[in-house]
Amino acid sequence: MGLWNTEKCPICGKETNALGKSAIKKDNSYICRNCFLKLTSSGINTSNIKELSVEELNDIVNGNKKTDDIKEYDMKTAEGMYQFCVDNGFGQGMTKSWGVKHFQLIADNLKNEEKVLIAFIGLHNYISATKHDNNFAYVLTNKRFMMAQKKLVGEAFQTVSLDNINDITFESGIAFGIVTVDTIKEKFNIALDKYSAKNISNRLHEELDNLKRISYNINNNQMSVADEIKKYKELLDMGAISQDEFEKKKKRLLNL
Ligand SMILES: [Zn+2]
Repeated sequence: MGLWNTEKCPICGKETNALGKSAIKKDNSYICRNCFLKLTSSGINTSNIKELSVEELNDIVNGNKKTDDIKEYDMKTAEGMYQFCVDNGFGQGMTKSWGVKHFQLIADNLKNEEKVLIAFIGLHNYISATKHDNNFAYVLTNKRFMMAQKKLVGEAFQTVSLDNINDITFESGIAFGIVTVDTIKEKFNIALDKYSAKNISNRLHEELDNLKRISYNINNNQMSVADEIKKYKELLDMGAISQDEFEKKKKRLLNL
């Protein structure tokens, strides 16, 4: 057990750790994110995955591979994030050069351990077709939601930690779809074309669920370590084990 222990994907057989897994289990092990993305991009949803056999899923993953290989994007770079948006239909902004400039702000602010999961471009603080703050670049990372806009003069940059996101909702209008990111402090309405908005909202939910599952696992792990240490402390207090033995056990549990 443990967060970084690997597990085999039931479809492709590749070893993955918690960050590489999707939230969907098949035959008692988690499907890797790569296979999961290949399936969803072939129009397979989570209930299909539950219904289909591993062999059938494997055929879909491999059949899909022939037609369009899932591109690996360098999501640490502005160009990689921009290309991800274009290929997924997640908004393009006015021009490529502006799109890349917005994402550059995000790339510059990424921390070492931070991983960009989704990137998209939309109209920020959308009220109506003429009332909004123009195009922003957005990303969801494993740590936070980031919003950035490069202007002719200056820039706008804001982040919300995942703990402060209440919900992400989607509403469809005539031409636009609105993704609303509801945070503890404020709400951000982001407009995109209807189809992209719905897809992005779904993807954001999937990724957030996945992150919740990971942090749940981490917390559970920490809880059991604390419990174990407590148990040995009691044994020590009872005189059943020596101080030396206790320290050894503790060190091992804390991976020191
Ligand atoms: Zn896989």
